[in-house]
Amino acid sequence: MTASIIDGKAIAAQLSEQTAEAVKHLTAEHGIEPGLAVVLVGENPASEIYVRSKTAKTAATNMRSLLYKLPETVKAEELFELIDKLNTDPTVHGILVQLPLPPQIDSQRVIEAIAPAKDVDGFHPLTAGLLSTGLPGIVPCTPLACIMLAKHVHKSLTGLEAVVIGRSNIVGKPLAQLLLMENATVTIAHSKTRDLPDVCRRADIVFAAVGRPEMVRGNWIKPGATVIDVGINRVPAEGGKSKLVGDVAFTEASQVAGAITPVPGGVGPMTIACLMLNTLKAACTQNGLEAPSISPS
Ligand code: NDP
Repeated sequence: MTASIIDGKAIAAQLSEQTAEAVKHLTAEHGIEPGLAVVLVGENPASEIYVRSKTAKTAATNMRSLLYKLPETVKAEELFELIDKLNTDPTVHGILVQLPLPPQIDSQRVIEAIAPAKDVDGFHPLTAGLLSTGLPGIVPCTPLACIMLAKHVHKSLTGLEAVVIGRSNIVGKPLAQLLLMENATVTIAHSKTRDLPDVCRRADIVFAAVGRPEMVRGNWIKPGATVIDVGINRVPAEGGKSKLVGDVAFTEASQVAGAITPVPGGVGPMTIACLMLNTLKAACTQNGLEAPSISPS
């Protein structure tokens, strides 16, 4: 079997187009231009690339993009002052502080300093609580992206066996909550899981969010299963260069799976498209308007 490739780039482009259209309407009808503030501390090359693509996408989606660059040595209090200012600025609807942060800054305190209504990354504990109790709120971008990609393959996830490898607060746990809301039967695996290949083999859908290059092998996949690879790992390549690979051994897994996301070009672009959607929704909610219901077909 050769898996069909889930084209995250194309699906993200479709979602972004729908979002851009809805933003146009919001601005024309209500005079609201959604604004996303991105804060970058230091000069981490990977963070700089992520931030560049987020700010470019914000503008391309007809939204206002604000970029704040702070030096690596910035004092924590200066960052908190900036977050406070953005929290109370009515023209800013979403705030994103790019992680990781330098060691003098406590990331958890930063996450908790962002006003939950503007927490478009969806990392605030209040946001996590709303999600786990099934109450309306912002849904973290990467887990939302994963669900949209899975639903691109399976119209309904009801009754499917889903295995999520990874239990981080930003990917694994919220993804498991979303899968429960979709009526999947969910197993969360992690570094202490016994017989991980066996656990994976019972999945109709495997979500790999581990951060270990190509850890999930082809023989871990049930024939015909769907594989959503969240991992982004930079590894050495020929000629002294480097390349990006996922947490799944793509070539092997695509011989067994029914459908699979590539890396790059899978979950990554969808995550950014979901960030734009979250910013639009946050702008609506903050202005007492109903957020549009948008999802790619
Ligand atoms: P974390 O490091 O926070 O979590 C990794 C998880 O994987 C942990 O729960 C850990 O288990 C588990 N794990 C580690 N080793 C093993 C193992 N050998 N067997 C089973 N489980 C294991 O990572 P994140 O959740 O932040 O990110 C995961 C991956 O997704 C990374 O590659 C990251 O770059 C990528 N990512 C991609 C995004 C995108 O937009 N595409 C966005 C966010 C992340 P334990 O809890 O027991 O330690």
